[in-house]
Amino acid sequence: MIPQNIINKLKESKNIIILPHISADGDALGSSLALALALKKTAKNVRVYFEEEIPHLFTFLPGREIATKYSNPDNNPSEIPGGETVVALDTGDLERLGKRVEIFNNSSNKINIDHHPTNTHFAEINYVNPKAAATCEIVYELIKELGIGLDNDIALCLYTGILTDTGGFKYSNTTSMTHSIVSELLNYQIDVPTISYRLFDAVSEEKLKLIGKAINSLELFEDGKLALITITRNMLAETGALDEDTEGIINYARNINGVEVAALFKENAELGTKVSLRSKSYANVAEVALKHSGGGHKNAAGCTINENPEEAKKIIINDLIKIINSHKTNC
Ligand code: 5GP
Ligand code: MN
Repeated sequence: MIPQNIINKLKESKNIIILPHISADGDALGSSLALALALKKTAKNVRVYFEEEIPHLFTFLPGREIATKYSNPDNNPSEIPGGETVVALDTGDLERLGKRVEIFNNSSNKINIDHHPTNTHFAEINYVNPKAAATCEIVYELIKELGIGLDNDIALCLYTGILTDTGGFKYSNTTSMTHSIVSELLNYQIDVPTISYRLFDAVSEEKLKLIGKAINSLELFEDGKLALITITRNMLAETGALDEDTEGIINYARNINGVEVAALFKENAELGTKVSLRSKSYANVAEVALKHSGGGHKNAAGCTINENPEEAKKIIINDLIKIINSHKTNC
């Protein structure tokens, strides 16, 4: 159940700002655009602010006319937008708002709606439901409780978030609730084969070349239970692949027979390395991400380490080995 104070605040507010997390994925984008489209139907002033341009992968999503990439190049305080109410969606902690944290701080009523168990409850009103497969499941319920009707555009946004966060209904977060929500969404116009192809199968020549280089970087440890993949800026430059093309590559490591934990080390454009973590069953990668100031879910988490990829590996590898071996000692 969505807390009543969230429903009330959204009903009372005329000006509402919605913020997904940085490097927004399908769930962050889908939940933000769905909620914005729904609130707009009740004659509210709604804006979504993204940290970056929307990835090409998601340019089919509707509602982009009410979304803007945030920029305030002169750091002018009077240029910072503020709303009566701000809603952070799918965002585990304040750092995940990037520079838009100033929009969050500049708004009056602060709401945080998420499904990451590591969420730091950083707002005045927090609703975190780790049982939801995607924030889009929570937003679906919220839209219903606000008494707003679904339509084709809202359904497409929600479907996209649920589809991507469940890996096409394949991950352990998929529940009967997931399927029950999706069964209703599919009453609207959703081109299932086209969307699935676009999100999971379509690949550019540049991305395919990057996948080749990434697979070549594979390192296995702990009798093949731990798989590491590295993507450097050089690999991106050599293949012409985009930053967003790294999406999904970690699954090649995770899917290897015998692998329990996979980690992808992506060299950032600025300082540092973005670490993506996945586990197949028992290992809790969120624990490791949390230790390094990140977060996520038991089987999918991430963090940033302010070192190059080789140093980042040295920093995190022992923690990964520990969660792999924790299983043996637990049973
Ligand atoms: P990915 O590896 O696909 O970037 O992220 C996997 C999961 O971990 C997602 O649910 C994502 O929101 C979360 N995540 C990734 N990086 C971070 C981080 O730096 N901080 C937090 N709190 N969550 C993260
Ligand atoms: Mn999510």
